[in-house]
Amino acid sequence: MKALLICEYREGKLLDSSFELFGFAAQLGGETALLLVGAEAQLPAYGGPLYLADAAECGEYNPDLHKQLILQAVAKENPDYIVFVHSSYGWDLAPRVAARLKAAQVSEVIGLTDGGFEVGCCNAKMRRTVKPTTAQAVLTIQAGAFPAQQPGGTPQIQRLVAEGGNGMEFVGYEPAEAKDVDLTRAEVIVSAGRGVGKKENVPVIAALARALGGELGASRPVVDAGWVEHSHQVGTTGQTVSPKLYVACGISGAIQHLAGMKKADFIVAINKDKDAPIGEIADVLVVADVLQFVPALTAKVAR
Ligand SMILES: Cc1cc2nc3c(=O)[nH]c(=O)nc-3n(C[C@H](O)[C@H](O)[C@H](O)COP(=O)(O)OP(=O)(O)OC[C@H]3O[C@@H](n4cnc5c(N)ncnc54)[C@H](O)[C@@H]3O)c2cc1C
Repeated sequence: MKALLICEYREGKLLDSSFELFGFAAQLGGETALLLVGAEAQLPAYGGPLYLADAAECGEYNPDLHKQLILQAVAKENPDYIVFVHSSYGWDLAPRVAARLKAAQVSEVIGLTDGGFEVGCCNAKMRRTVKPTTAQAVLTIQAGAFPAQQPGGTPQIQRLVAEGGNGMEFVGYEPAEAKDVDLTRAEVIVSAGRGVGKKENVPVIAALARALGGELGASRPVVDAGWVEHSHQVGTTGQTVSPKLYVACGISGAIQHLAGMKKADFIVAINKDKDAPIGEIADVLVVADVLQFVPALTAKVAR
């Protein structure tokens, strides 16, 4: 079994998410090869074949040229799997490659089973297992689903050159609008999940955040319901945070939320369900009703 791992490079840097591809490959087993449209100065420590194209020539992102480069590497390596991170880069490029190869595509893989891939469904409440039936398959892996790994070694570089232009030029990135709260700098974050019940209860959670000198965070359903602004959302489609203390109030621990906060130094979860998945990564799981426990804790902290 062989996997071609497509690393990502942005604004002159190899993205850390590329190392999650190594974590995925380690679980999958078998051989690997890498492809990077980037620069030689930014190569990962990896002791296998690395197909390198110059981002200065091909653009950090240009779907047609990058697809062409990936197809060149596929022709040389004949991998069973072509694996991207499920990022804006991966989810745009993967279906183009799959369509050209007439290969199955499995998006947002979060786990491996015997010969199959687990993907979330029903808003991540359930998992289903998918087995590609084509000889090759294109996969995207969800950010945070596989542990980052640094394999070590020196790559055997094979240079790729894209042939011809395609009438498109990569111009650059535009930063998103400034957010009214920068959770990435917060040392303490207290987040409200769907378990808080209704918008009127959010101030209970915000009061604990204030008492601890921290910021209010939120899970996606809380933001989608309009209880809290999107700038407070933590997770794959919100902010990725690494505070010293993260308090998750009424949050189940879906993988998309964990991806945004699991690097916190110390995690306290308050949940009325003792089996909530957040308990697996929490340092302390308080089994209680948030609306009873949080005001009592705030009063203690404020004293
Ligand atoms: C593409 C995609 C991207 C996503 N991006 C994100 C993201 O960036 N961030 C994010 O958070 N989610 C994201 N999600 C959604 C994610 O899959 C989950 O649905 C979401 O994280 C669940 O939020 P929650 O834990 O608040 O709610 P739920 O899963 O409904 O959990 C509520 C929890 O509260 C507990 N509870 C209920 N009442 C009480 C009470 N009175 N006291 C104590 N505990 C109580 C319950 O036991 C439960 O564990 C994304 C999903 C998809 C498909």
